[in-house]
Amino acid sequence: MSLPAALERYVQNRTRSAAYLTFAAVPGGSSQLGGGAVVDRWPVCTGCGRPLYHLLTLDLTVAPQPLPAPGLAFFYCLSCAPSDHRDCGWHAGFSTGGVYQPQPPVPDQSEQPGPLVLLTDQAAGLAEVRMGADWPGTFDPALRRRLIKAGEAAPAPSRSGADRLLRLSLREPNGEVIDLQIGLTPATNVDEFVKVMTANRTIVSMSVEPLMDPTDYFSPYRDRLSELRGGMVVSKIGGWQDGWQEPRFHRCSCGGSLEHVATIASDGVCPFVVGDSGALYFMGCSKPGCGEELFWWLDYT
Ligand SMILES: [Zn+2]
Ligand SMILES: [Zn+2]
Repeated sequence: MSLPAALERYVQNRTRSAAYLTFAAVPGGSSQLGGGAVVDRWPVCTGCGRPLYHLLTLDLTVAPQPLPAPGLAFFYCLSCAPSDHRDCGWHAGFSTGGVYQPQPPVPDQSEQPGPLVLLTDQAAGLAEVRMGADWPGTFDPALRRRLIKAGEAAPAPSRSGADRLLRLSLREPNGEVIDLQIGLTPATNVDEFVKVMTANRTIVSMSVEPLMDPTDYFSPYRDRLSELRGGMVVSKIGGWQDGWQEPRFHRCSCGGSLEHVATIASDGVCPFVVGDSGALYFMGCSKPGCGEELFWWLDYT
C-alpha cells in the first residue's frame, strides 16, 4: 500500500537510525538480559522487601541519538508485578559503575500472577548490536497530529459495523428519564427506529453523531508504517518508540515530549515473557534538567 506523496515524504524524512539488539552470546557485547549486574548493592523492593530480579542491563552508548545516561540497569519485583513506572516494585540504575554481583537466587515470587513471567533464571547472553534505519512508530503522535491537520485521516467504520451513534434521552410515562446510546448501522432508518423506541415515551433530547473507532481511523497510515518497519516490535536502543499497542505515555509531567530510550521484545531468547510475547519500553523526558528520569511500561500485545 502507498500513502499520498506528501505524507510518504514526511515519513521518509523522519527516518532515524537505531541500534538493534540480538541477544546471543557475543564477546565484548555489553547489553544483557537477566543474570548478574554491575551494582554496588543488590536492590530490594520498596514494596515487599524481597530482592529485585535483574531484568536487564543496557549499554546506552551504542545509541545513534544522545541519551540521558551511558547505561541502564533495570530491576523488577515479580511479586509486586508493576506494569509501569507509576507502580511500586522496580528500581533503575543509570550509571555503568559498581561491582559485578551474581544474580541472587530468584526470590519466591513466581506464584504471583502478573504481566511479566520469568521463564528461566539463566541470563540471555550479551547483545550483538546492528545499526539500521528506523521509521516513526505506528502510533507516532506527531504523525497523527499532521494527518488531522491536513485532513488526511479518513474516518473508517467501527469494528461493530455501526457508523453512527444515537444518543436518546426519553421520559417514561411515570416521569423517569432514561438515557440511551445506540450504535446504528448504515442500513438503519433513524426516523423509524426512534418512532419504535419512543412509543408512549417523550423525547427529552436526541442527537446522532458519526461513530468512529479510533483504532481504525488511522489504519491505512499504520499499515504503511508497519510495512516499512517489517511489522514486528524488536529489541533496540534509540530510534523511535513503536509498540503493539498505543503508547501508555506521550508526555512528561513537565510538558516535554518523551524520547525513546530502549525497547526489549520478549521474543524466543528473552528469559522473561511480557503478557503474550509483548514488550518492555523505556522512554525519557526530552527537556534537559527535568527531574522525571524514566518512564517505562509493559505492553501485553
Ligand atoms: Zn515487591
Ligand atoms: Zn520532563
